[in-house]
Amino acid sequence: MLLDQYNIIKLRTAADEDCKTSILVIYTGGTIGMDYDEKGSLIPFDFEALLEEVPELTRFKVWLTMLVPFEPMDSSNMGTEHWLSMSWLIEELYDEFDGFVILHGTDTMSYTASAMSFLLQNLAKPVILTGAQIPISAHRTDARENLIGALEIASMQETKQQVVIAENGEEIIKEQSVALVPEVCVYFDNLLLRGNRSKKVQSLNFTAFESQNYPHLAEAGIFINYSKSYILPVPKEKLNFKSAMDENVILWKIHPSMNPKYYLPLLENEDLKGVVLESFGSGNIPTQQWVIDILEKIIKRGVVVVNVSQCAGGYVLQGHYETSHALTQIGVISGNDLTCEAALTKLMYLFGNYNNKEQKKIIIELLQTPLCGEMTLF
Ligand code: ASP
Repeated sequence: MLLDQYNIIKLRTAADEDCKTSILVIYTGGTIGMDYDEKGSLIPFDFEALLEEVPELTRFKVWLTMLVPFEPMDSSNMGTEHWLSMSWLIEELYDEFDGFVILHGTDTMSYTASAMSFLLQNLAKPVILTGAQIPISAHRTDARENLIGALEIASMQETKQQVVIAENGEEIIKEQSVALVPEVCVYFDNLLLRGNRSKKVQSLNFTAFESQNYPHLAEAGIFINYSKSYILPVPKEKLNFKSAMDENVILWKIHPSMNPKYYLPLLENEDLKGVVLESFGSGNIPTQQWVIDILEKIIKRGVVVVNVSQCAGGYVLQGHYETSHALTQIGVISGNDLTCEAALTKLMYLFGNYNNKEQKKIIIELLQTPLCGEMTLF
């Protein structure tokens, strides 16, 4: 049982018997949960003492439960196993909570957010990832603001008329309290971003995340201003947790003066299923024949290659320059404005869940279809 790996802490907030909102905070590791020892080295923070560091939480009129792992992790060590177990936890505890906040290292937060957006299909509740650039116990920490903002967003509800599918399959209209942000998001430095559009863009400043290809879902100032038209609607169908990811996927970052001897082994690798080609600008690559030959041969063998840009903003437009012309002809798929993080995790998700040979057509179709707001169709 995955829950065995966590210490469960119920925080003393201002919630009383009338309070109906409860939020689950899942701590994973990273800078946010660090403290300094006497020698000035970073060590894990004792979350039992969270209310001392963030006393504002005692005034929160929401039930707060925290899962604190016995072994917190630097997010650089996270991968498919952790994305799956966090998504599984949310699925298991879905009915008990109204929203989820994940405290996560910043380095791979956008990969986790992207992966979880694919794994938690038909999500109707907020899953807000946040972290910090400075540990929670430090004077100038950004953890406090990030945590409080994430909790507030995760607990936001609105009343809506909602079409629901009855047991007999009929559509009925019900008035319901629904989550304002039913998506996997990153909240950082006053910005709420769609998780699968986010990117870590700063390693030192507080402005660590951006989503250049999609508007902010909310901005926090004196009020939190939500841009409702950009937020995904509450889905009609029930949460559908997809429990597999396939790691036979690589990222090939194109750079000037690539040496073929390091890429030719791709031709021999039978297990390889997908390649995210991170190209220049609007999808361009060097027109050396060996690059095209390798791509063409692996595509013929059944490997799916998707082209995304190295730029943080803009999109791939294959054929716009001569240097991307051949890519469409040999069957490279344009990833439009997908981030590299979303493209990589989407391929892992698609290969994990559509794994028969006959399903390759479906994979290619779904790759070019927005599944949870991760890409724009042009
Ligand atoms: N290396 C840390 C991590 O990603 C950095 C951070 O938390 O900001 O876990």
